[in-house]
Amino acid sequence: MISQLLKKIIDDNNRFVEKHNDGYFSPHMTSQHPQITLVSCSDSRVQPHVLLDDPIDQIFTVENIGNQITSAQGSVDYGVLHLHTPILLVLGHSDCGDIKAFMKGYDGEPEAIKNEIDTLKGAVLPFDNKGSFEEEVLGNVQRNVDYQVDIAAKRYEILIDKGSLTVIGAIYDFLNTFARGHGRVVITNINGIKEPERMRDMPFIKGMRDQISIARLV
Ligand SMILES: [Zn+2]
Repeated sequence: MISQLLKKIIDDNNRFVEKHNDGYFSPHMTSQHPQITLVSCSDSRVQPHVLLDDPIDQIFTVENIGNQITSAQGSVDYGVLHLHTPILLVLGHSDCGDIKAFMKGYDGEPEAIKNEIDTLKGAVLPFDNKGSFEEEVLGNVQRNVDYQVDIAAKRYEILIDKGSLTVIGAIYDFLNTFARGHGRVVITNINGIKEPERMRDMPFIKGMRDQISIARLV
């Protein structure tokens, strides 16, 4: 099993080396130039190439369970304050295990895992049996994205006011709950603004109103 997996890594990396010449690497050999700081979940189903075909040197990726800012504040600061990415994207996703763990109870988890679930406390609601568990999970995914965007909007308020940073909250919807297609990235929050019409009216959105998926769960 391990040798098969290692063989796959070697084969795939060989293909990567063959496909990319010096010219590909030379612009980023000694410095990076990302345009997006991404705060995403460690979940293996969520990867930066759902956003850009080639995320190398484009996306400064910060991943942890539950796509949380406070779990990795230094890394997020590095992307925003040192690398000056114009976008900070908080990306939640369908079927998030961290959110499900919070809702189901996580007392039995080891201390370090518990600590990273604890920080969802202010963000999401416990399961209240009103809707289906799956519906409430997605509602909490959206709440968590809102919560993280609020943290960022406060922390980087000066940059947002200057127009040098936009904080975008979105959900990678591989379950197609928003009915925009499996795998669609649906924007749910921009700089703390949650009303879809207000988001669509933002100057940088206007030219692509019909192409962009902006929606909220009711
Ligand atoms: Zn997750």
